[in-house]
Formats: sequence, structure tokens, C-alpha cells
Amino acid sequence: MKTSQFFLNTLKDNPSDADLVSQRLMVRAGLIHKLGSGLFTWMPLGFRVLQKVEAIVREEMNRIGALQIVMPNVQPAELWQETGRWNDYGTELLKIVDRHERAYVFAPTHEEVITHIARGELRSYKQLPVCFYQIHTKFRDEIRPRFGVMRAREFLMKDAYSFHLDNASLAETYQKMYDAYTRIFTRLGLDFRAVEADTGSIGGAVSHEFQVIADAGEDALVFSDSSNYGANLEKAEALAPKNSPSVSQKTKELIHTPGKRTIKAVCEFLKLPETQSIKVLLVKGTENDMVALVLRGDHEVNPIKAEHHPLIAVPFTFADEKLVESKVGCAVGYLGPIGLTEKNIPVIVDRDAAVLTDFCCGANQVEYHLVNVNWQRDCPLGEVFDLRNVVTGDLSPDGNGTLVIKRGIEVGHIFQLGNKYSTSMNATVVDEKGQPVMMQMGCYGIGVSRTIAAAIEQHHDEHGIVWPTAMAPFQIALVPMNYHKSQRVREATDTLYRELQEAGFEVLLDDRNERAGVLFADMDLIGIPHRLVLGERGLDNGLIEYKARVAKEVQEVKLTDLMSFLDTILRVKHYIE
Ligand code: ATP
Ligand code: MG
Repeated sequence: MKTSQFFLNTLKDNPSDADLVSQRLMVRAGLIHKLGSGLFTWMPLGFRVLQKVEAIVREEMNRIGALQIVMPNVQPAELWQETGRWNDYGTELLKIVDRHERAYVFAPTHEEVITHIARGELRSYKQLPVCFYQIHTKFRDEIRPRFGVMRAREFLMKDAYSFHLDNASLAETYQKMYDAYTRIFTRLGLDFRAVEADTGSIGGAVSHEFQVIADAGEDALVFSDSSNYGANLEKAEALAPKNSPSVSQKTKELIHTPGKRTIKAVCEFLKLPETQSIKVLLVKGTENDMVALVLRGDHEVNPIKAEHHPLIAVPFTFADEKLVESKVGCAVGYLGPIGLTEKNIPVIVDRDAAVLTDFCCGANQVEYHLVNVNWQRDCPLGEVFDLRNVVTGDLSPDGNGTLVIKRGIEVGHIFQLGNKYSTSMNATVVDEKGQPVMMQMGCYGIGVSRTIAAAIEQHHDEHGIVWPTAMAPFQIALVPMNYHKSQRVREATDTLYRELQEAGFEVLLDDRNERAGVLFADMDLIGIPHRLVLGERGLDNGLIEYKARVAKEVQEVKLTDLMSFLDTILRVKHYIE
């Protein structure tokens, strides 16, 4: 490709509405064009990158026997009503109406449609297992579209769905997917980890997220410093402390704490460490209008883990403050566990809060706290449950080492769904005995467009993008010096350009009539991994200048050796089927 025939539209300055490096660089390099909130066009340069990622994803899906299809994005409301997600999916679901006033959704995901296909097309166990996939647009009316294509409303996803006679077969395909995802993100040149993920309301099933490690990531990830354990913070278990409360010698005391409503303010005032305090959060319950969650003052509640408790309403929601005041008799800030059970508020205590001795807490009276409070002596303990976020230094749940926390960008998610959708949509096959069996199902997503932003987040420098080889829109930037002034340079460049193309390299010949500095800056900005510079002086000596995007120094290569030189550095490891 010659720049003069391509559409390269780079910007010197950062867009004003971009928060992330990847977002700024994608706009500046001209990869995307913003249409509206969370809506982007992939421009020619960006589209080339998208195709690279798609191709690798497709190769690896095909390699494990998944079969590509394309499903409609406009889907009848009735299907979504069957699974209950017409109401349960929430406000991310875009509902639309046609000229006959019939309701549809614009698909945020395709479980309903694929299950509709399965119940129509799959009849016998002999057709199983089978796995379908597509690489297609999704629409989610995200509450906060941000970070460019990282959290867009319309985005490109690879979604795969597998169907099985039993759980063992599901587990087998799940493992194949896990391995395929590992190959995909390895081939894409990303630093990533697969971590255990929460399975939400479905419960019991197995799920992993593939996370690109990056400080800008929205997810907190937890790893052991001495084992393979890795989990999303949402999922990571906080082990019960080994100690139990000791017998207290101190008497409970009521203390006037005017204006001290936060743990920090109360503990400073009482000269107690925050680890010696507890806090009470009142949240909406399933059977009661509110449920009390008790945590150590320095710990944070983990809403996802809390949602696993049958008494706690999903989604996790704080109780209305006015209701709290009328029921408990004081404002949030002075809440404590004593006397709540009598008010028909169940008390659930975090494992760490449950082992405290002589702690301080709110007195359920405005402007008063209690010190030297003890479970059982002063207040029944209530049910003990894992409610908190783990913190750095906690013991790893697998018993090996302590935990460290890093940030990640979720680029893939695999899930053993079980029979959730097959049951609600009655998708059965007959088994060997001719009996109908509910199919088991797995689903497997990759955020194709998000992966590109994640790659830039991980691979850039002060000059621009530094593409991992497999994603780069072009492999080689060929930059001639004085292409428009020197006939010799032009002829030599054109010949070399043809030779490189014939050898199968993807070359961008920058034939713009601009200063060398401009050409270099643009090739750096758009992140082409290899740069060749050809000029009069080089031609005199039979040399061409080579620089890797990641290298500081340039290198002179004999023109006669160029092809074998490029062959060596550009040889990409291919996974052959
Ligand atoms: P998130 O927690 O980031 O909202 P999710 O759990 O909603 O993700 P899935 O339903 O598992 O995502 O979708 C599969 C993949 O699609 C995700 O792993 C992610 O890479 C990608 N994805 C999800 N939402 C978006 C979005 N709004 N923009 C771009 N990619 C997305
Ligand atoms: Mg989401």
C-alpha cells in the first residue's frame, strides 16, 4: 500500500475528550472515528488491525472444531420473554419496535437465538457435542460508555456457544476453549492471565475471564505470590481467620461522638485502630426490607459475594436512608449491631469481624458510639459469611502464599452455563435410549474491538502505538528520503516496494511529499513494527537503514542481504491446523 493511495489521517494533538492512552492514540493514529457516545467507525487503518485480530480468533476457533455462523441482531421480543431476560437484562437492553408495532431487541448477546436454533436443529445425541461461533456486532446501552472502544455501546464480539449431552462433555469443550483463548492472546502478543470469575446468579458453574494486565484496567485481579491462583476480586474468597475472639475483661461503654460519622473520624477520636472497629451496612433483603452486614471498619464490602447470600437482594442495593432512620432510630454513621435482630433485621457478619474482641461500633443513637463491645456477651453473633474484598497480604485461598492485587482489562470470558437456557427454552435431544435430555451449554466471548484497545494500553511509548507483530496494520514502513526530488531514490524504492510485496510482506510505502521528520513521526505514531529508510547516501553504498519500532538505534543492512534479513526478523510462529 502507498500512503498516497491510502487514507492516513493522523493528528498531532490529543483529543480533548479522551481519558485513556489507548483512546487518545486510536484517535490520533486515525484508527477510529467517533460517531456518538459509544459509537465508532473503524477507519481503513483500524479495520486492518481488526481483521488481523479476527483472523487469529477465527483460526483458533476453527482449529478446535467450532463452526462459524452469523445470527440476526434484531431479535423477536418473545424469545427474550421466554428466558425472562426481556425484564431481567436491565437497561443495557435496547428494545425496538417495527412498523407493525412488534417488539424486538437489538442483541447484546445471542444465548436466546442460539438456543432457538439448537432446539430446532438438534434432535439426537449423535449431533453432540457441537459448537457454533460468530464474529459480529453487539449493542449494549452501557450506562457509562467510555474509554473509546474499550467500553463502547456498539462493539465487535466473537461469541461461541456449545451444546452437550452431559457435563463431562461440556467440561471437555470448556477446556478446549480455555486452551484456544490462551493461544489467541499469546499469538496476539499480550501479557494476560486467565482468572476465576464469579458466575453471578446462575451459581455453581465454572467461569474464567481472560484479562490483559494493565494499570488502566477496570477490573481488580487477585494473584497468589507463590502459586497459580488468580481470580477476579469479585470472586476471591477471604479465608476465615485462624484466631477466635478472646475473653474480654473490659466493660462496654457508651461514648458521645458528636459529628463523627465515618470510621476514620470515630477511630481517630477514640484513639483506636480501624481494625478494632466494625461498621454496619443496611442493604435490601429478599425476605426482609433490610439486612445488616457487619464488617471490620477497615474492610470493604464485596457486593458480588454478598449477593450469594439468599437473604440479600440482587442487585446489591443499600437500604433507603429514610427507612433506616425510621426503623433503627438513627442516621447512617451511628449504626451498630446491637438490637437489630429484635427489629426484624437479620445480621450477617463477615468472617474477620466475627473474631474481634472489645471492638467499637455505632450505638444506634445519634452521636453515640460504643467501645469494648463483644459478640455473644453484648450482642448475638448472627450468621458468619464471607462478605469482604480481599486485600494485599491476605492468605491465598488455595493455601499457598499471600495475595497481590493488579488491574486488568477483561478481553475474554468463558462460562459453563449448564442448562439455564435449555431449560427455559426447552431445548432437548434424545439420548441413546430415546429419552429426551436437556442439553448442557457453554458460552464463550471475546471482545475483539476491546482487545485492540487493551493491546495499545499495554504496548505504546511516548511516540505512539507499538503494535505486537501479529496485530500491526502493516509489517514494514518503507520511508524513502526525497522520493519526489530524486529519480534514483524513487526508482530504487518502487523496485524494493514491489519485491517486498512479492515476498509476501505487508508494506506501507510512505510516498508523501513531506519532511522526513513528519514521515518518521507518523510511522512511529501508527506503530508499524519495522521501518526501512532508503536515501541517496545509502544507495551509493548499497545500504538501507533498518529500525525496529521498539529499538532505540538504527541499523544498516546491505541491500543485497535485505530479504534474508527481513525473513529472519519477521518470521512469525504460525500455528498450523
Ligand atoms: P464487562 O464486565 O466489561 O461489562 P461483560 O461481563 O459484560 O464485560 P461479556 O458479556 O462476558 O462481558 O462479553 C464478552 C466480552 O465482550 C467481554 O469479555 C469483553 O471483552 C467484551 N465486552 C463486553 N462489553 C463490552 C463493551 N461495552 N465494549 C467493548 N467490549 C465489550
Ligand atoms: Mg457488561
